[in-house]
Amino acid sequence: HTPVPAGKEDIFVVDSPNVIYTDSEIQSKYTYRTTSVVRGADGKYVATPKETLYDFKVDRKTPKTGMMLVGWGGNNGTTVTAGILANRRGLVWETREGPRAANYYGSVLMGSTMKLGTDAHTMQDVNIPFHDVLPLIHPNDLVIGGWDISGLNLAAALDRAAVLEPTLKAQVKKEMSQMVPLPSIYYPDFIAANQEDRADNLIPGDKACLAHVEKIRQDIRDFKTQNNLDKVIVQWTANTERFADILPGVNDTAENLLKAIENGHEEVSPSTVFAVACILENAPFINGSPQNTFVPGAIELASKHNSFIGGDDFKSGQTKMKSALVDFLISAGIKLTSIASYNHLGNNDGKNLSSQRQFRSKEISKSNVVDDMVEANTVLYKKGEHPDHTVVIKYMPAVGDNKRALDEYYAEIFLGGHQTISIFNVCEDSLLASPLIIDLVLVTEIMTRIQWRAHTDDEFKGFHSVLSILSYMLKAPLTPPGTPVINALAKQRAALINIFRACVGLEPESDMTLEHKLF
Ligand code: NAD
Repeated sequence: HTPVPAGKEDIFVVDSPNVIYTDSEIQSKYTYRTTSVVRGADGKYVATPKETLYDFKVDRKTPKTGMMLVGWGGNNGTTVTAGILANRRGLVWETREGPRAANYYGSVLMGSTMKLGTDAHTMQDVNIPFHDVLPLIHPNDLVIGGWDISGLNLAAALDRAAVLEPTLKAQVKKEMSQMVPLPSIYYPDFIAANQEDRADNLIPGDKACLAHVEKIRQDIRDFKTQNNLDKVIVQWTANTERFADILPGVNDTAENLLKAIENGHEEVSPSTVFAVACILENAPFINGSPQNTFVPGAIELASKHNSFIGGDDFKSGQTKMKSALVDFLISAGIKLTSIASYNHLGNNDGKNLSSQRQFRSKEISKSNVVDDMVEANTVLYKKGEHPDHTVVIKYMPAVGDNKRALDEYYAEIFLGGHQTISIFNVCEDSLLASPLIIDLVLVTEIMTRIQWRAHTDDEFKGFHSVLSILSYMLKAPLTPPGTPVINALAKQRAALINIFRACVGLEPESDMTLEHKLF
């Protein structure tokens, strides 16, 4: 067996009889090792190691990709756009702390590394950028576009957002002033009334209809042709909507949802109309806000069309800390008994969330993030027992995009003692969310190029249309119906990295390092 050399873009090659490189693909034969458990009549578990053989193949050609954002003119939309331009052009700007250069800090793919293995001579770890594990697209190459109910050009919208330094803004101003969001759909009942004064860039009609679905599909097609793109990925980074009621006959099945749109039913939200348009257009759609865009009918429609969807709600600040800290506490055997989370922020997101129904969407999305960790620890928690958990969000215009998140974690320790951890987290919200928008696009894009089959099958197919692999970046991860939700941050990252490794025929990173323990 002779390994085919990697392409000139690849920084490593896997030398294994289970891995084949062709000009167009990386093919791997992968043994997935799990443990199957049954409970016997005597109440004892029997755990049996199990092996399943899969074939994976990855298309090596990086496609020309477009990213279309719904809510392009908002804080996230403008910040991520300016950030990509700054990186593409290698910009440097003055700040009062000295010059700063463009980077992708905060992107797990662009800013973190993975242990490839152990150096054969020195026995030290060899780490490579996460971005180089698979032939991913580079964010600098993304063509950016999108929709907004506010018609401001992106340079003016960047000023409105008040996130970036003036010296950086000045360098992207010309280019961004040429970027103008496409008109969007606006159903006033779904977002806060206080957003009305910016809604000046609208497709006519104030409730769902097929014409809206068709218009959005046409916008995606036009963007693709105008920019000569191979594919387009769409993300909702528009305002948080209120939850839609789940109504039998309206949004419970794919067929009913399409009928409800046709009949102009009032309970179909703009974000669901976008999702439906993208599914029908086979453009992956990711929801970065907390509302229930993916009503059961939308999930069914996506799986019928084998179109990728992912959500919900970017996991940028407080919840990311929570899904790491709670994982640590409960895994350490410490009994967390309450979490109190307070936020105040002064950007337009905060203004929208000052309205009760939109706040409720956020409250729900922020509330369930510790469930899996609590449920898994049957030593600390009785069945159904749960730490108290409260989430408060207040609008405080003065702090702008510099969101404050105050958290108190209260836990019971050895012999009735207590531990209290207080966190005061201050950061520019949009500077945390923008790299997540990039990660979501990069991972989603590569998922469109990965195929699998059980080793005994003939046909290759794609992953399930609900992309739970995106969980690391999302607060309330959407998973295929009936499958568990994983919130623990370390597990989410391990899933992402180990699936990437499997695609190139590498074993999961076990961290056992027996080579340093058994001499
Ligand atoms: P923002 O209010 O600055 O931007 C939202 C944009 O969406 C606005 O420009 C608005 O005009 C536009 N919009 C509203 N309805 C629309 C529609 N139907 N079609 C097209 N455009 C529409 O908010 P942001 O700070 O950019 O955040 C965007 C979303 O991301 C919010 O829902 C927020 O809750 C969510 N989110 C943000 C973070 C973060 O860290 N920044 C984290 C998690 C979730």
